[in-house]
Amino acid sequence: MLKPRPLKEIIGAMSSKDAADIALVSKAYEFAQTAHKDQKRYSGDPYFVHTAEVGYLLATAGMCPESTAAGLLHDTIEDAGVTPKTIEELCGKEVLSLVQGVTKLGALRYRGMERHTESLRKLFAATAQDIRVLIIKLMDRLHNARTLEHVPRDDKRKRIALETLEIYAPIADRLGMSVAKQELEDAAFPYAYPHEYEKTREAFTERKSENEKRLEKTEHDLKREFAEAGLRNFRTEARIKGIYSLFRKLERKKWDFSTIYDMRALRVIFPTVAECYTALGIIHGHWRPVPGKIKDYIAFPKPNGYQSIHTTIYTGDGGALEIQLRTEAMHREALYGIASHLAYKEVQSNPAQQKSGGLEWIRQFFPRLGKAKESPAPAQGGRTSTDVPSWVKELAHAQSGPEKPNEYMDTLKSDFFSHRVFVFTPRGDVIDLPLAATPIDFAYAIHSDLGNKMSGALVNGKLVSLDTALRNGDMVEIITKPSAHPSRKWQDIAKTNMAKKHIRAALAAMKKT
Ligand code: MN
Repeated sequence: MLKPRPLKEIIGAMSSKDAADIALVSKAYEFAQTAHKDQKRYSGDPYFVHTAEVGYLLATAGMCPESTAAGLLHDTIEDAGVTPKTIEELCGKEVLSLVQGVTKLGALRYRGMERHTESLRKLFAATAQDIRVLIIKLMDRLHNARTLEHVPRDDKRKRIALETLEIYAPIADRLGMSVAKQELEDAAFPYAYPHEYEKTREAFTERKSENEKRLEKTEHDLKREFAEAGLRNFRTEARIKGIYSLFRKLERKKWDFSTIYDMRALRVIFPTVAECYTALGIIHGHWRPVPGKIKDYIAFPKPNGYQSIHTTIYTGDGGALEIQLRTEAMHREALYGIASHLAYKEVQSNPAQQKSGGLEWIRQFFPRLGKAKESPAPAQGGRTSTDVPSWVKELAHAQSGPEKPNEYMDTLKSDFFSHRVFVFTPRGDVIDLPLAATPIDFAYAIHSDLGNKMSGALVNGKLVSLDTALRNGDMVEIITKPSAHPSRKWQDIAKTNMAKKHIRAALAAMKKT
């Protein structure tokens, strides 16, 4: 039987060594352990093994202490019957709101790939409200995916695996969290597509030793070349392509292995950008690069913020190898993506400027940006505030006047939060509506009969007027009465053409009778 990860390992992984932060995480740990003490996982292990691991993953990703505490507590409301009030008293409002956010996400239903997975991804992001909720949920899923083998029923295992591939891994990717993305995919792949997994694994194993030898030899030669040129301050690591990502690539390339050069890649990490370019010069001076395979993501970062130089070289043994060059800061961001920014306490904004710049929408998702902490904790990996990517700074120090948001924010905004609201039916189904849509639009989006017989609406359990603008994550319930009918006013209130059309038709029919 597994033992829960000890508290001291979680504290050891935290980037903050502040006494108050450690106290917060310790309290959450002790409380969650007691709350789950009679519960077991499918594996027979204590339930707390799961929540302790989620807390540990969050601390490792450099998340703030509130997120780590919320990770430890994330199942206490749903599975241990703990009241929100108890959590608030124990760890404060912020931790409670994170736990509640995660609990709410847990209620979402995934109905398989025939549904609109892109909408679901957006919904997840939008429902999370606070981007930290999304990251906690990703880590929750990561641990559940790692332990999929214990889930007793085949159909359930497959559903969780597909959901992980279709929803969670793409979100991790969008947030630039490549470690989480790869692990989610590789944990889910064998259960989502067992046959394809077997085939890929066999192909991978066949070429494994050849690949390993090539990498070792190139690494050795590369170190010598760098040293001769006076480049000494760097470290290397082997990057092994995830098996699911290899499978996807093989599918695209019709299983022709001769065009796949990145089953293994060699990563070289330097202190400065200048050294990365120097290294590229040395590499291309010594080996012949594969044409069309040179990618400068330092000068042109990927939309999710990823930065590195990639090049593929012929290694002289009939094969080729991909080499990735990057700085420590880029490395950390490549691993943890957006989570790596949320750890920076030195990214602060002047509260007086918070309402400016037309960037209010994103502040909602990055509450930490607006919060001043007095002593900046030393950032992990030796990053200083000058390493904070410019888009984060732009956000945090938005001056008056609409600053042009950069590409990354644009992508985040248009992909995730694009002019739609996502609301729930009482059964947890998702309805996708335009911004400022009302309960009237909601009712007609479900069925015209529901709209035509509507007498009132509850939003999150509270009675509201019919012109209330719905917000992301609202749970909407329509009250009907047999005698109810649409009124002329509804036509002005409704935002969707569908609702307007049905109201017009109903009004016309009423006139006739
Ligand atoms: Mn969980």
